Amino acid sequence: MGPPGAGKGTHASTLADQVAVPAISTGDIFRAHLAAGSELGRTVQQYVDSGAYVPDEVTNAMIRERLAEEDARSGFLLDGYPRTLDQAAVLDGLLEAQGRDLTAVIVLRVDQESLVSRLLRRAEIQGRSDDSEDVIRTRLEVYTEQTVPLITLYGGRGLLHEIDGNGDIDEVRERILEITYTLTPAG
Ligand code: ADP
Repeated sequence: MGPPGAGKGTHASTLADQVAVPAISTGDIFRAHLAAGSELGRTVQQYVDSGAYVPDEVTNAMIRERLAEEDARSGFLLDGYPRTLDQAAVLDGLLEAQGRDLTAVIVLRVDQESLVSRLLRRAEIQGRSDDSEDVIRTRLEVYTEQTVPLITLYGGRGLLHEIDGNGDIDEVRERILEITYTLTPAG
């Protein structure tokens, strides 16, 4: 977990490689559908472009299917899911049905000014449709309102690992890896 620009995607790939599980990014899946012009892409376009969350029923159905795929059997790393309390409840149900549990929840903390400057820099390089200044502001607000409550939820379950996400990619990667060495997979 972490606000837009925190580095979730960057570190999810490295960490997933390290622990040999697939990294599953809801944002990447939505962008792939947008690029392909699929029906799901058309459904989510207005939400992604405006910085709003895609409705829970759409996101939950997509994750349910993705987690049922073969490569997710021995574990997975979720990037950008769950982001609402409803999504967290659905994920609990999916895992419970399979007799599995979450091993850890990693939150990347980054100063607000760095987030905005990282995202504006990314806008220049990648040209993502949701990296304009207005939409960035909306995404940060939506994160605070809808996703920050999950930090309390997972903190209460003793799953939370908060990482300082400021600094360069290598430094942050080391901080994350230090934590993963101490984890024992659950479920
Ligand atoms: P960021 O974290 O930088 O905003 P993502 O690539 O994770 O970027 O997400 C991009 C967009 O995809 C979000 O603004 C939202 O519209 C949609 N999205 C991604 N994950 C979810 C989710 N779990 N629930 C609802 N919408 C999502």
